[in-house]
Amino acid sequence: MNSKTKFIFVTGGVTSSLGKGIVASSLANLLQARGFSVTIQKFDPYINIDPGTLNPYEHGECYVTDDGAETDLDLGHYERFLDCSTSQANNITTGRIYQSVINKERRGDYLGKTVQVIPHITDEIKYRMKLLAESGRYDIVITEIGGTVGDIEALPYIEAVRQLKWELGEGCLSIHLTLVPYLKATGELKTKPTQHSVKTLQESGVQPDILVCRAEQSLGSEIKRKLANFCNVQPDSVIESLDATTIYDVPVLLRLQKLDEVVLKKIGLPIIGEPDMNRWNDFLDRHKNPKTKVEIGLIGKYVELKDSYKSITEALIHAGANCRTGVDIRWIHSENLTRENAFEALKNLHGVIVAPGFGSRGLEGKIEAVKIAREQGVPFLGICFGMQASVIEYSRNVLNVSDANSREVDPNTKNAVIDLMEDQKKVIKKGGTMRLGACNCELKNGSKSYELYGKKIISERHRHRFEFNNSYLERLEKSGMKATGVNPETGLVEIVEIPSHPWFIGVQFHPEYKSTVVNPHPLFVSFIKASLIHKNS
Ligand code: GLN
Repeated sequence: MNSKTKFIFVTGGVTSSLGKGIVASSLANLLQARGFSVTIQKFDPYINIDPGTLNPYEHGECYVTDDGAETDLDLGHYERFLDCSTSQANNITTGRIYQSVINKERRGDYLGKTVQVIPHITDEIKYRMKLLAESGRYDIVITEIGGTVGDIEALPYIEAVRQLKWELGEGCLSIHLTLVPYLKATGELKTKPTQHSVKTLQESGVQPDILVCRAEQSLGSEIKRKLANFCNVQPDSVIESLDATTIYDVPVLLRLQKLDEVVLKKIGLPIIGEPDMNRWNDFLDRHKNPKTKVEIGLIGKYVELKDSYKSITEALIHAGANCRTGVDIRWIHSENLTRENAFEALKNLHGVIVAPGFGSRGLEGKIEAVKIAREQGVPFLGICFGMQASVIEYSRNVLNVSDANSREVDPNTKNAVIDLMEDQKKVIKKGGTMRLGACNCELKNGSKSYELYGKKIISERHRHRFEFNNSYLERLEKSGMKATGVNPETGLVEIVEIPSHPWFIGVQFHPEYKSTVVNPHPLFVSFIKASLIHKNS
């Protein structure tokens, strides 16, 4: 292991959903802006091997890395804030820890021993916590522990942190994120929940070095002093994290309180000059001061839970800022869309995105949305299932193949324009068996995709089981829908376009996973530009 790598652990208390991922990402962002190389990993205390088998209603979006890991959506924040890619090693679950320990037990690695939570599970956790440092690439590894302190299932992780703090000494730091609620009735901020949460952490042997307190109102020096006093931390180590208008403000707000300096001092790294926030601030300026705005329809079936489309909404923000354009999203539930009401529901939109998805629910509505966008010349971006919906729509309404469908939705269809490939037919297990992660795609000369990517071979991330059926390719191309991006190894169609339409692109992959604050995705940027043109036409 790189003995110089420093470890920062982020735990959460009082309640879930305080934004540990954003705080961890923001801190990483500040340290990176000071020239340190930083990565973030998340340990999730649930038993699923990964969130790929979880319903988006339970867990929000499933994020996918280049190497094909299905991960927690916080990894999306890490990549968007740091502009570098994460991997399988950046998201570990209890399921994975136990699977690995049980495999070792069966192999005989612990022969003669009773295998126990302590030390075997905690050793496995510690091993994984240190793994990213082994590459020698990182000065700092930030580890976010999912869940809330006090949860039974989080205990082995807290114990691992306790042991590591002891083993690594100075090179190890613990940050605890809590809530300081405001009681309207008495007009006061209350510190007791934080005190209790820190006590719980201390009972497990972990003394937080820094408290980050989510609050609706500024804590003021009195409350900070009180928290420092009751929780055994230095007064400059009580940092407030007030509700921000955008998550991208959080690094700036934490910087104002010198969180980066407090951290560096504690882990023994030099504080030289100021963090270089120029590109970040330029983005914030563009995001907060748009010259104009567009309204984009997002058609999906999980629209009640906006977290299900996190990477898409963030990619729209990045692209909007790039064009100094505010992006309003009209959330449209695909299950409610019919031939009769689709025109009205999509009226006056400047662009339409048909979202990824699984299963038959809501697909017909997505197809109606494609039809409106295609016929009305509204910029259209279809992502994964959205791209598949566009192929079905075109086959039905332009090729007149009225029963065209995806094999996923109608296993007996005679016209599976979206079908299962041979290698997927044998697959029975559901977890981790889709086409996952980065694949190359070759773009056709003269296509819109080629023009906006500006290169011939691109790499994008996938997460799907079904594919464009090449036996319909010739007919579709003859009638105006072109395959403009093809996988050079497999011949699978990854991009379709309608060149006679102002802006119509369907992609089998997920471009949203690769959009970051400093590198907005070219497809989304071009889509916003096209939406602006549509608005002004
Ligand atoms: N359900 C489709 C498939 O499995 C699309 C998946 C997606 O949109 N991510 O191929």
